[in-house]
Amino acid sequence: MPSRSNGLLITGATLIDGTGAAPVPDAAVLIEGERIAYAGPAAGLGAQAARVIDARGKTIVPALIDAHNHSTFDSDMRVYLKNGVTTIRFAGLNQDAVVALRERVERGEIPGPRILSCGPMLDGFPPSYPHWAAPVRTPEEAAATARRLLVEDQVDALLVVQQITPELLRPIVAVAHEYGRPVVGQIWFTDARQAAEIGIDELDNTSRIFASRAYPPERLTSYRTVPERLALFSRGWETIDWELTRPLMEAMVAHGVSYCPTVVVHQHQAGIGLAELEADPDFRTMYGEAEHREWAQFLDYVQGTWTEEDHRLMGVAAELRIEWMRRFHELGGRLIVGADMQFGGIMVHKELQNLRAAGLSPLEVIRAATRDTAEELGLGDHLGTVEAGKLADLLVLNRDPLQDLGAMRDIASVLKAGEIVRV
Ligand SMILES: [Zn+2]
Repeated sequence: MPSRSNGLLITGATLIDGTGAAPVPDAAVLIEGERIAYAGPAAGLGAQAARVIDARGKTIVPALIDAHNHSTFDSDMRVYLKNGVTTIRFAGLNQDAVVALRERVERGEIPGPRILSCGPMLDGFPPSYPHWAAPVRTPEEAAATARRLLVEDQVDALLVVQQITPELLRPIVAVAHEYGRPVVGQIWFTDARQAAEIGIDELDNTSRIFASRAYPPERLTSYRTVPERLALFSRGWETIDWELTRPLMEAMVAHGVSYCPTVVVHQHQAGIGLAELEADPDFRTMYGEAEHREWAQFLDYVQGTWTEEDHRLMGVAAELRIEWMRRFHELGGRLIVGADMQFGGIMVHKELQNLRAAGLSPLEVIRAATRDTAEELGLGDHLGTVEAGKLADLLVLNRDPLQDLGAMRDIASVLKAGEIVRV
């Protein structure tokens, strides 16, 4: 390392590097261009830098990632960055919309995070979300569609949803892995054990990671609309059989399948935390009519016909899913982070609290939201930790997040690829 750097040196902070290692007090992070040149004890760095930030009393952590989102509003892009989320992955959307948004961010027209995409959802017929779906009927069609998305649309991962059966999943996984890209599922017609054995990489939100004697697969798949399916989901969870569920968890752990719970969206659907969200300063000031209207329309589509009881049971299901996460984590399963809703820059921080409630230590929560999520996105070589050689995506926090995870949102500076972000 040269003794005189043209880069940016952040010095004096405590460093939590995202690997799960113990914090390093009085650390230095030297950034050259987009990447980190040094991260470690200040005493170990013999270089001086052109620009120095004195960060004594502060804590450096890797920037956050939202592995599952849908909103393309400019406001959401801005809120993500402001709240320390420098990378997001769209989980099922028209790929042209994602590409257009990504180009605007890359040209600097709007501030926003780094954008990855799963492209449209691979689903059976009829697809649950017709505007966001690439429906397939046969294994041959599934393979051809998967290949088209990976080669022509250059998606970063494939997403399989509700009605993808094991027969359709097999060729999709084979094609994705041929191109070295992951397959993410939120599947209903294939359970977690089948998906794990076929080789899926990640399961998200409402995937069938549980089993219930009262709601066996035939009953869970007997819906006609999205609200009906989600009502069955809640009832299935309410009657979860932990003995039947354990082999599903074990198969995920054995095959290295991570889980992105996105519990926040289901808590929101159950009416939990609404007042807190409405009081949130970013929620109040950074969104307009259009964003609120779109979210209301989405909620109407997914739960418009719910009864009071359906809302209540969704809250029960969210609690039981946190218990599932606790058991999965104890078995050595990997949890990652996503919000699955608009206002993601706010809601990701609430999801960190759900991982904490599932028994992860604050250090483990930070690792889950940074290194582990980056690895699941296939970006482990470039993002997710504050280490030499990685992209300089990091947060300088005003307080210690190991004392209070809420400090992850008490941010002095956000850096994305070595640049201090201004929103
Ligand atoms: Zn989603």
